[in-house]
Amino acid sequence: MKIGIVGAGMVGSAAGYALALRGGASEIVLVDRNMALAVAQAEDIAHAVPFAHPCRVSAGDYDALEGADLVILAAGVAQKPGEDRISLLSRNAEVFAQVIAGVQKAAPETMLLVASNPVDVMTEVALRISGLPREKVIGSGTILDTARFRSLLGDHLGVAPQSVHAYVLGEHGDSEVLAWASARAGSEPVARFGVQVGAAITQSVRERIDEGVRRAAYRIIEGKGATWYGIGAGLARIVQAVRDDQRSVLSVSIVTPEVEGVTDVALSLPRVVGRSGVMTTLLPELAEDEASALRRSAEMLKQTALSLG
Ligand code: ADP
Repeated sequence: MKIGIVGAGMVGSAAGYALALRGGASEIVLVDRNMALAVAQAEDIAHAVPFAHPCRVSAGDYDALEGADLVILAAGVAQKPGEDRISLLSRNAEVFAQVIAGVQKAAPETMLLVASNPVDVMTEVALRISGLPREKVIGSGTILDTARFRSLLGDHLGVAPQSVHAYVLGEHGDSEVLAWASARAGSEPVARFGVQVGAAITQSVRERIDEGVRRAAYRIIEGKGATWYGIGAGLARIVQAVRDDQRSVLSVSIVTPEVEGVTDVALSLPRVVGRSGVMTTLLPELAEDEASALRRSAEMLKQTALSLG
């Protein structure tokens, strides 16, 4: 599968590197308005290929995206320390207008995988600009928050995160919702599993995990200015689900017809992802407080998208 990446900065290059290592693509093309950066990143990633999977890696102009099956949109301006994701919006919306025009000239049918923040609103912006069907404009959304949730729950319960089925819903950001009521370890509700293994999920454990998930990006930004490895791997995971028509259940963002009474809003829910993009969306069982938190998250995202006009 041919994958384009527009924006060869930290996130775009980490996605390219993760793809090369995981074997997610037969060809990767990096595009950036800073051509020297795209060329350097492509060369650097290409040098990892002999240690990984066969894959051609190059840099080019938008024309080089011709025939791309999927293009990752990682262009934009970086989040500053302490800066709310939403405040990045208008600057990044302008970048997307330019970028998507370039991409679609070369590859009109390509699927779009949005990584730029604030990712949910950027997904809605990308859908609007591209005119593609909504299931083909996918935001990385809470894929990473969900991974962090599973990892912290797995640590607490003493099981592999792969055996934890739990999702973070709504916005990728401050209003995100950890779906505790539907969280399972194996086939057991996590609360029951915790009691069985002597690791009860008390209120303070819940708060610690919630904080650990919700504040992760802020902590990393404090230490290194931005985040890229985790999201790079998450993007490669989504690409693999598409490439291999895996029909994996991933928490990703697309514009959703209705959630908790809010219509046409991009946010994350567990979704079945395969060759044609998002194939099905699931709404997990929610506790009352989770349902109202999801509604607030959806309303906030909808308002932000509307404020763009
Ligand atoms: P992040 O940490 O989100 O990856 P970076 O600043 O490292 O942020 O990367 C963003 C990349 O997007 C930069 O390399 C920048 O040159 C690129 N970029 C910004 N605007 C455009 C644009 N209009 N077209 C193509 N690339 C762009």
